[in-house]
Amino acid sequence: MGHYAYKMVETLNFEFKPVQESRLPSVDFNNIIFGRVYSDHMFISDYKNGFWNDFRIEPYDYIPFSPGSAVLHYAQSVFEGLKAYKSPSGEILIFRPDKNFERMNLSARRLCIPEIPEEVFMGGLNELLKIDKEWVPGLPGTSLYIRPFAFALDEYIGIRPSETYKFIIFTCPVGAYYSKPVKVKIETKYTRAVEGGTGFAKAAGNYAASLYPAKLAHEKGYDQLIWTDGKEHKYIEEAGTMNVMFLIGDKLITSEVGDSILSGITRDSVLTLANEWGVDIEIRKITVDEIIDACKAGELKEAFGVGTAATVAQIDTIGYEGVDYKLSAMEDREFSRKILQTLDDIRTGKAEDKYNWVYRL
Ligand SMILES: *Cc1c(COP(=O)(O)O)cnc(C)c1O
Repeated sequence: MGHYAYKMVETLNFEFKPVQESRLPSVDFNNIIFGRVYSDHMFISDYKNGFWNDFRIEPYDYIPFSPGSAVLHYAQSVFEGLKAYKSPSGEILIFRPDKNFERMNLSARRLCIPEIPEEVFMGGLNELLKIDKEWVPGLPGTSLYIRPFAFALDEYIGIRPSETYKFIIFTCPVGAYYSKPVKVKIETKYTRAVEGGTGFAKAAGNYAASLYPAKLAHEKGYDQLIWTDGKEHKYIEEAGTMNVMFLIGDKLITSEVGDSILSGITRDSVLTLANEWGVDIEIRKITVDEIIDACKAGELKEAFGVGTAATVAQIDTIGYEGVDYKLSAMEDREFSRKILQTLDDIRTGKAEDKYNWVYRL
């Protein structure tokens, strides 16, 4: 095919302890529940004495650590999420891992976690996927979800940055992800992130803090929250754990990323494609009022979240101050459908990779 520019060249010296018996034959690839099935191996590195070292690939299993470990008490922990796909000819393709590497370290800096060297992140990823390549599913819509993460290990419950850490990568095959259109509530009391906070980082604690407001919304019949700014609850920030986009008339509108809005790789990919297609794009603060006005005027053509897990999560209904606004039918959503199809084709090697997004194992 030869569409893709990059071959993963990063290699790393590591110790390999293979599984005695692969669990692969026991997996029903037609019925995978997201995040429940783990591939055979994981990559691990330990940080001590100022370095990431002890690189190894071992069977995916429990790891021993102390109840006093800092991460359990103070959430000094960051993570990433990316996916690998199988091309029609059986090649393993990884979507924009360089961006996840960069963001992992952006998050790490904010949490005082020592940065992961590129050869450890990319090399570890490459070696792990080579070993577990049979775990990348090939059915349409399926992929291998990759979860790199790093956390504080010191057995010490005083508050300070830890001196020891673990960096782990494990992977999960995921089934065809069809996300049914969601009913969202614009949140005007709780907040996910504030200026000066950790919203731009994939920090574990951000997600813990979002659970309670999400639970309250569930109880009211909503699937997800639209987060607004922490100061005035006047501007729209994100949708759940995704960036959010709106098509008003023929304009694609999304919030600018910053301290409180995470810079999504899917968001960047969508904007790049939209720009190529000549779509009128506005990246700016979005007020709740203008979205509600557009709903009322029938001008809000499409609304959707964008992120690695679902790629595009359609928003079906927006709730605000007790009123539910029903949006346009899914069949009419040409733009987001085209985005989903195009991204899918690029990631699986079916379409030309103009932007060098795809890494080949
Ligand atoms: C991960 C994440 C996103 C989406 O980022 P992608 O790189 O597109 O997966 C958006 N917002 C939040 C809060 C996230 O954690």
